[in-house]
Amino acid sequence: MREQYDETPLSSQAVPGATRVDERAIYHDPKHPFYIPRPPIHPKLVRGKFRNIKWAVMFVMLAVYYVLPWIRLDRGPGIPDQAFLLDFAHQRLYLFGLEIWAQEFYYVTGMLVLSGLGLFAVTALAGRVWCGYACPQTVWTDIMIVAERIWQGDRNARLRLLKAPWWSFNKAWRLAGTHLTWMLIALSTGGWFVFYFQDAPTLASELLHNTASKYAYIALFICAGFTYVFGGLMREQVCTYMCPWPRIQGAMIDGDTLLITYRNYRGEPRGPHKKGESWEGRGDCVDCDQCVAACPAGIDIRHGAQLECIQCGLCIDACDEIMDKVGRPRKLVAYDSYNNLVAQSQGERVPYRFIRPRTILYTGVFLLVCAVILFGLAHKTVLEVNVVPDRNPLFVQVSGGGIRNGYIVRILNKKLAVHKFEISVAGLKQPGLSYVGIEGGEPPVEVKSDDVRAVKVFVTIPAEEAAKTPASADIVFTVRDTVDGTEVKRNTTFKGPGQ
Ligand code: SF4
Ligand code: SF4
Repeated sequence: MREQYDETPLSSQAVPGATRVDERAIYHDPKHPFYIPRPPIHPKLVRGKFRNIKWAVMFVMLAVYYVLPWIRLDRGPGIPDQAFLLDFAHQRLYLFGLEIWAQEFYYVTGMLVLSGLGLFAVTALAGRVWCGYACPQTVWTDIMIVAERIWQGDRNARLRLLKAPWWSFNKAWRLAGTHLTWMLIALSTGGWFVFYFQDAPTLASELLHNTASKYAYIALFICAGFTYVFGGLMREQVCTYMCPWPRIQGAMIDGDTLLITYRNYRGEPRGPHKKGESWEGRGDCVDCDQCVAACPAGIDIRHGAQLECIQCGLCIDACDEIMDKVGRPRKLVAYDSYNNLVAQSQGERVPYRFIRPRTILYTGVFLLVCAVILFGLAHKTVLEVNVVPDRNPLFVQVSGGGIRNGYIVRILNKKLAVHKFEISVAGLKQPGLSYVGIEGGEPPVEVKSDDVRAVKVFVTIPAEEAAKTPASADIVFTVRDTVDGTEVKRNTTFKGPGQ
């Protein structure tokens, strides 16, 4: 349900000379007092700088999305050569040179935190530009609108078609063509996502020969279905009602953030203008509604900053075109900061401030998380060892007076091959080691690929050494990979009666 606003919008509030807009008149509908039915939104095609930037970003995003699963990287025998692969079967994420195991999911969490902080910083600088240019929802909605335009024409033709009776043949074949094209786009783009989860060339061949697993087909149709529904049918409603970001982003914005702004000090009082008429005593806005017609969110930016606005800049292009036609300066609608808007309404200017406490904070935390992740990656091991001493009893006196401690040694082999490991203990004189749970009772301990193995190790010292050993002696377990020589040391203690 959309709120019924009681206040004057931000841009009209503080800027002298601005028109006060009665939003209740806009949002109140006596037929639907509790909700507003979705108005049909058919954005018109505009040409201009921001539309071109959007095309370019869309091209780059799609190119990355399509090409990424096909990039090969030789990682050695037995390891997938797909540069970017979410390998659920082996619980690994391959990200070019990085190999992240399920147990190391904190790296993925760290990367998500980085993305969030990056988004915070960008939003503090220029509002929801991510939403307006690069978000997959925006990219797919744009593609779907292109297909719609091909079958049904631009905005006016689409609105005419909407009014045509449902039995109209012209309407039927155009709608059928549109939805069929959307489904094909959904299959070929949303469906492409499955190549990120399995070896892409193999899966493509299996899909073509109908030999892929049923899960691959289910995943493909689920992804395609979401693309069709979100990009084709729901469009801006996903951004307005489903995505949490519009509600959160307000916390990152301040008076210096660049936002799409209608310069009401310049545009008001608005009204139609005939060629040759004077511009004296009136604003530059000719009330042509072209900024509204171009808006994919269906809003009127002249009402001020709104939750639905994705900062795509298409209303700027639409308005610039009108300003060129009527011979007035461009940028009646532009990216501007609220502080500058207020200053300009008083005939002054304030420079745009990139460096502010909040941008410093977001960048600082971003760099800190980057450093932590890089440190972790630089010290990442492919062998993990955990040594837990027995708690009950702490030690046992064996026949002959020797002292024995028991330990559980867990070895996690993260490699894609079986490896064998030696175990040794330092810090005690003449320690005797015996093992439970190993074939033959002696190391090496064989651990399967991507598996963990627990071995019970008993450490015994003779009576004469026990008499010289303190009640708690520091010792070090060393686990050594016999294949590649990797060593991991773990500190623990050896308990006894004391000297
Ligand atoms: S108001 Fe302008 S910037 Fe905001 S969504 Fe609409 S066209 Fe894009
Ligand atoms: S496109 Fe420009 S001139 Fe036309 S209504 Fe919008 S702000 Fe006014």
